[in-house]
Amino acid sequence: MDDEDRITKFKQAGRIISEVREESRKFIKEGMLFSAVAEKIENLIREKGASPGFPACLSANEIAAHYSPGKNDQSCIPEGALLKVDIGAHVDGYVADTAYTIAFNDEHKQLAEASAAALNAAIEQSYTGNLLSNVSEAIEGTIKDFGFNPISNLTGHGLGHYWLHDAPSVPNVKFTSAYQLKEGHAIAIEPFATTGAGKVKDAESITIFRIDQPKPVRNMEARRIIEFAAGLRGLPFSERWLPVESLFKLKMALRELREREILYEYPALKEISNGLVSQAEHSVIVSDKPIVITK
Ligand code: MN
Ligand code: MN
Repeated sequence: MDDEDRITKFKQAGRIISEVREESRKFIKEGMLFSAVAEKIENLIREKGASPGFPACLSANEIAAHYSPGKNDQSCIPEGALLKVDIGAHVDGYVADTAYTIAFNDEHKQLAEASAAALNAAIEQSYTGNLLSNVSEAIEGTIKDFGFNPISNLTGHGLGHYWLHDAPSVPNVKFTSAYQLKEGHAIAIEPFATTGAGKVKDAESITIFRIDQPKPVRNMEARRIIEFAAGLRGLPFSERWLPVESLFKLKMALRELREREILYEYPALKEISNGLVSQAEHSVIVSDKPIVITK
């Protein structure tokens, strides 16, 4: 495939996920079931002719990332939540990744604004030949100007083919490196701002998985999961999507895959001091004038 096709597919995925994002701003309300929101987003992506690049993530308050409702999840968006909506669509394996934050409590609007402003400042720095560290410095500087902390152990990333977190990682704090941005490279930039210490750790909930190196297994449901994952060619999936009806059999199958070291897991990530967290994300093609494919 020539490079023009790659960029065309990124742009198609970007247009679709941007439409879904704008529609989601209108329908997401406090008190809705997380599962209803996630399914609606994922179905809209499919109706528009793409596929979810990963399960819709709906992380609230001190949960920074990777919370997606699991099978039979009955929990609802809390009253006054600070909600990160992080969604992606792919066309033939080219994923457009975007996120925004809804502040249901007006007191959190500045925190939501801080990550959005940091994203804009970062995009301005995303031109061919610029130092990647200048992108990170713009993010950290903007968030600190708002009086908040960037999250230092969450980063943006390159966007590969059927590979969501490709090199380079795009840190949210300044660092020392001579790495220069390359023309045509697709990167996801995702600043996180917090009222807390500025770090995340694993939380309990794990509902997002990936399998890229399958091995033979005995358990029938585990085999079914491997087959399902093969169709996604290494992209992440939700336990909600798996063709296993019984929750008990699902947990047993996942345990076998985990023990056989076949399963890559994405635990939900929470801020270490339980600070509130906001996020904003766009996918960008590096160019003399950066192309935001999720605008
Ligand atoms: Mn994302
Ligand atoms: Mn991302």
